[in-house]
Amino acid sequence: MASAGYLGLTIAPTLGCNFACVYCYEKDSQKNVFMSEEVQRKIIEYIKRQIKYLQSVNITWYGGEPLLAFDIVKNMSKKIIKLCDENEVMYGASIITNGYNLTREVVEQFKNLRLSFIQITL
Ligand code: SF4
Repeated sequence: MASAGYLGLTIAPTLGCNFACVYCYEKDSQKNVFMSEEVQRKIIEYIKRQIKYLQSVNITWYGGEPLLAFDIVKNMSKKIIKLCDENEVMYGASIITNGYNLTREVVEQFKNLRLSFIQITL
């Protein structure tokens, strides 16, 4: 959603999940489906087109389980952060995860990805 200089996007880099919660609306969806490079590129292009109108960009990483697609999260984050920094636009990000893959090694990378809010769904 873009308004008054603010763009908030919820991005699902995969619909796959390593859990199988009975209540989950994702459970019948295809597993191991990852966002294609084309879709990733189009999202970056969309932000690029909007950036001159923006004061801040906020991304929420969602799924499925987004940490199954951590390479996509990292790759897209770096591109969006670069765009924001070059245009003096504030950037912030959060992730909604089941926490299973939230290892020390993963969390240590969050600072560089400016991922400052983690919601763990139990
Ligand atoms: S962890 Fe979340 S996405 Fe995965 S099956 Fe459970 S509710 Fe669905």
